[in-house]
Amino acid sequence: MITYTLICDKDHEFAESFDNYDDCMAQLKAKKLKCPTCGSKNLVKGLSAPNVSGQTAPDIPACPAMGGCANGACGLKA
Ligand SMILES: [Zn+2]
Repeated sequence: MITYTLICDKDHEFAESFDNYDDCMAQLKAKKLKCPTCGSKNLVKGLSAPNVSGQTAPDIPACPAMGGCANGACGLKA
């Protein structure tokens, strides 16, 4: 099971769960899905997958400085 973010032609974002990527694409192609906000069936898959289990992406990238800048000045993780 995998969750993808879908976006309708009115820019409403929502999440849907699918068996896999192919299942997602097949349902989009067959227009079996619709936007819960406006009912549009013109959907595209978003870039992000907010609730994919087993994958943890850090919100903030690590500081690129060697060893980290360590004082938080750059706003990134040390
Ligand atoms: Zn919509």
